[in-house]
Amino acid sequence: MNDTTVKENRTGNLTQVPKKVKKRGRKRNFEEIVKEFISPYHVSTNRYELESASADLTSLPSYHYKFKKNYLASIIVRPADTESLSILIKKCWELSLPITIRAAGTSCFSSATPAKGGVIIDMRRINKVEHIDAEKMTVRVGAGISWLNLMEKLSDYGLAPKAYPTSFKTSCVGGYIATPGKAGIGVSKYGTMADSIISLTFVLPNGKIEHIPKDSNGEISLDDITGTYGIYGAISEVELSLTNLKTSLEIVGYGFSSLENAVNYYKDIMSKVPDKPFFLSISERKFEQYSHINFPSQDWLVWAVFYDDPEETFRSVSAADRIAQNFKGVRVDESYLKEKWRDISDAEVAIGRTSRNIIFQEYWISNERLLSFYESYINKASKYKFPIATYTISGEEGMSRVKIFGLSDITRPIEFFTVKAFLHDLSMEAFKQGDNLYTIGIVNTFYLRKYRREVVKNRKILKNKLDPKDLFNSYRIVKARMKHWRISLLFTTAKLLYKISFKK
Ligand SMILES: Cc1cc2nc3c(=O)[nH]c(=O)nc-3n(C[C@H](O)[C@H](O)[C@H](O)COP(=O)(O)OP(=O)(O)OC[C@H]3O[C@@H](n4cnc5c(N)ncnc54)[C@H](O)[C@@H]3O)c2cc1C
Repeated sequence: MNDTTVKENRTGNLTQVPKKVKKRGRKRNFEEIVKEFISPYHVSTNRYELESASADLTSLPSYHYKFKKNYLASIIVRPADTESLSILIKKCWELSLPITIRAAGTSCFSSATPAKGGVIIDMRRINKVEHIDAEKMTVRVGAGISWLNLMEKLSDYGLAPKAYPTSFKTSCVGGYIATPGKAGIGVSKYGTMADSIISLTFVLPNGKIEHIPKDSNGEISLDDITGTYGIYGAISEVELSLTNLKTSLEIVGYGFSSLENAVNYYKDIMSKVPDKPFFLSISERKFEQYSHINFPSQDWLVWAVFYDDPEETFRSVSAADRIAQNFKGVRVDESYLKEKWRDISDAEVAIGRTSRNIIFQEYWISNERLLSFYESYINKASKYKFPIATYTISGEEGMSRVKIFGLSDITRPIEFFTVKAFLHDLSMEAFKQGDNLYTIGIVNTFYLRKYRREVVKNRKILKNKLDPKDLFNSYRIVKARMKHWRISLLFTTAKLLYKISFKK
């Protein structure tokens, strides 16, 4: 009989220790059990930590907790490696405890927040750079590492990740893999997050550890894991292909008074410039105004970052400058563009500071329909008086993530819910025209259940097989907390009341 168990000592290393038996006939609770193999410093039931780890920027979870305390998790555990992660998950499986996997919690739409209480597994201590192969340009790394830490380590070898989100200063590698990972820095040049994965180490809901190479066609494949919000288990390690650091970075930016010219310029940069941009974005002046102190005077700004060897960069910048003349672009001051690039990870956060409640939605729109989608946004927005703003970043080929913000205050509930209704109308329009939402999380899952039934059906088959008790990251993609008709009724009422209240 195996009478030892694995325990973490104070330095974070795992050691074999004798198994604890029932103490004086008293049953041990989950916290005590966990503290036998994870350092007590990394097991928390502090109520402030629980509340913040159970929420995100979209603020919806806090309403849940206000009315239904049982949404809140009851314990946060931070394992330091795959083995202790696996033991922890197995214990939860045996005791039927709901699990929420959380990394930096920046993904929003309740992606990393609990829907059934239970255990939050914070992945950020599984963050070791295990191996860098400078020749093959690959890295094997713990999935809880932040992009910034990984980039710093890689830069010593002259290497860099191919694609990462603009939230790279805090967000983690595993978080970008489990969310779409299809828009961000480097994506238009090197491909999506999924494109740079060589293999993953994955822990299934029953605690079993699996090694999953890119071309695996076993029970669970990479395609099941990328962009599925951790519903099938936890990614503990990742092997990524890399690129090398470049020597020349240049930013090009033009202001446009016509939306059509701005969108056409944005599209031409993707298709007509010799080297694809490292980053490309289009934004409305209102977004610039909310996120920066200085801002260009034209209604629309398109800016592109080129990052390569000096010759490549020069050719691309010259082409981008030339093309701008076809669309009557007005060159934006270089210092402004430098500020934008420097503050890329703070721009969205800055807009949050301008209102009490920031409300937003992220649309995943084909570049072919970008102009008509924007026109519809402008048309719908003209009916309301609340402040709104939008910006877009380019994603995997031919697609863009359009983010629209509405600024409001929950103490003005009619306006608050009308902002949500405005974003909801655009969501339905996106689905109806064949597009999608970018981030799904818990909040947006009801749209998938209405508009993408096939996707939900297929994902459900694997979910039922791997997690029949639905304990792992529940209520994402395959099962929804909210119903489409109830949301639509709430928003229709809000719009009606808004019309009456703001008639004058
Ligand atoms: C300012 C700002 C800028 C952003 N820019 C971009 C952008 O350019 N592109 C983009 O795509 N997104 C962007 N995002 C959204 C978000 O930052 C990304 O989705 C990011 O990758 C999430 O990482 P995270 O570590 O915060 O993950 P979390 O938010 O903690 O988790 C996200 C989801 O992944 C799951 N998960 C996390 N780690 C694991 C794991 N190891 N195994 C299994 N499941 C896991 C969680 O359960 C959750 O469902 C931005 C957000 C902000 C606030």
